[in-house]
Amino acid sequence: MSASDRELVKERAVLLRTFDEFDAELAAVEARVVDGGSPAAAVARTADAARIRDAWRAAPDPTDLLLDPSPVGWFTAQLAQARVCLPAGPEEGFGPDASGRYPAPCLFDPHHGPANVSALWQPSPGLLPRPVLCCAEDAALLTEGKAPRTRLFPTSKGPRPLWECDGDIHVWWLLGHFTLAGWDRLAAVLAHTAPIFSLNRVMTHQGAGMK
Ligand SMILES: [Zn+2]
Repeated sequence: MSASDRELVKERAVLLRTFDEFDAELAAVEARVVDGGSPAAAVARTADAARIRDAWRAAPDPTDLLLDPSPVGWFTAQLAQARVCLPAGPEEGFGPDASGRYPAPCLFDPHHGPANVSALWQPSPGLLPRPVLCCAEDAALLTEGKAPRTRLFPTSKGPRPLWECDGDIHVWWLLGHFTLAGWDRLAAVLAHTAPIFSLNRVMTHQGAGMK
């Protein structure tokens, strides 16, 4: 097997593990919708997310999703919209405020509580700290000098946080989760991290093409 073939096999294996993570993410939201009394709007959104997921699972070649990862943004946008239909609870509270604005999801994991606390965060030892909006639990950890509870993605080097992943898939995943809250703070928060070039490119040129 040539070096490039080996790379391809590795890339495909990572992608299939990523698919499994997306399946688990959908299943977790579906379970919360059931726990929340299955509001019709939330059920409709998770059904849409499942259809989008089924399409990439049914593709003849899984790596098709690398050529056009925009369905991942549609998938997480449905999950974000499902969550705001749920009744308020300890990890919820995602409804709009009096001015109609939705709170951002926690940068460390959008499935945490709403990001309504600001904390100082250093993505890696070589990068300047920057203010980040996150859930109250992660803000408390950061204030104590501890690591936030971070969602990890499969990579060829093992599980890594979003800011150490440079694939467009991760950027679409993030943008979909920020559908309701808006994207305006993301580039500043992720400045100089691995996905920043992809983030700027997708936000500038490709995000408008979401269909
Ligand atoms: Zn959090």
